[in-house]
Amino acid sequence: MPHQMTHFDLEADLAGRCDRRHDSGPFDIIGDVHGCAGELEALLVQLGYDVRWSGAPGAVRVDVIPPAGRRALFVGDLVDRGPRSPDVLRLVMSMVESGAAFAVPGNHDVKFQRWLDGKDVKATHGLDRTIAQIAPEPKAFRVAVGRFFKSLPIYLWLDGGALAVAHAGIKEEMLGRVSGEVRRFCLYGETSGETDKFGLPIRYHWAAEYRGRTAVVYGHTPVPDADWVNTTICLDTGCCFGGKLTALRWPEREIVSVPAADIYTMPVRPFGHPPLRPGAAV
Ligand code: MN
Repeated sequence: MPHQMTHFDLEADLAGRCDRRHDSGPFDIIGDVHGCAGELEALLVQLGYDVRWSGAPGAVRVDVIPPAGRRALFVGDLVDRGPRSPDVLRLVMSMVESGAAFAVPGNHDVKFQRWLDGKDVKATHGLDRTIAQIAPEPKAFRVAVGRFFKSLPIYLWLDGGALAVAHAGIKEEMLGRVSGEVRRFCLYGETSGETDKFGLPIRYHWAAEYRGRTAVVYGHTPVPDADWVNTTICLDTGCCFGGKLTALRWPEREIVSVPAADIYTMPVRPFGHPPLRPGAAV
């Protein structure tokens, strides 16, 4: 009788892909790119990466050579809102394939992947732009993008347990586990289940309550500057909204940013951390 994966086996396997504690970097962790390929290339160059584009339209390729010993690590939300989501995907997919980068998925990436799978998703919050930008691309590219997103670990736990990277954050007790609840937190953070006056899900400032020793590096919520809150740091500095694209060099803890070249999407909500959860102990 063939061996069947049980639910437990599957979750242990998924958690195993997230657990890279044996890998100590150094890493250049990059915040939400949202289709801002020009700024991503400028940031990579500033971090010492060599970015080489080649090929003709329809067969564009890009090769990225990292500085000796370093690798990039993307916190997710590669697509939507910005001007060049396919080029961002080409860059990041090439880097992950060559071993020059790791990536975790963001909520926008997952939604786009669901659209690629033919699921019924609303083309809002910049997804409409990504759909228009991907239209001229060959089918093989779309298939490769879908496969790429499905291959990503939902979070990464690194550097002897000292570092965790997840799109919207993670709680320390979730490290080493994967479940529906863990996936939801990694993609959406702490939410109330309700929407605000802008029609966006109400989020809470989980980082203000974080007491873990593991440094958690995340994105998801645009903030004016990347600043440490307890042992967490949000690297989403709203590049697609005319802010900047930010990287954290680990273990140096040095911040490197490049300014956005344009306002690609008008922000609906002001930048900044969300409010505290009612009753939060801080
Ligand atoms: Mn985002």
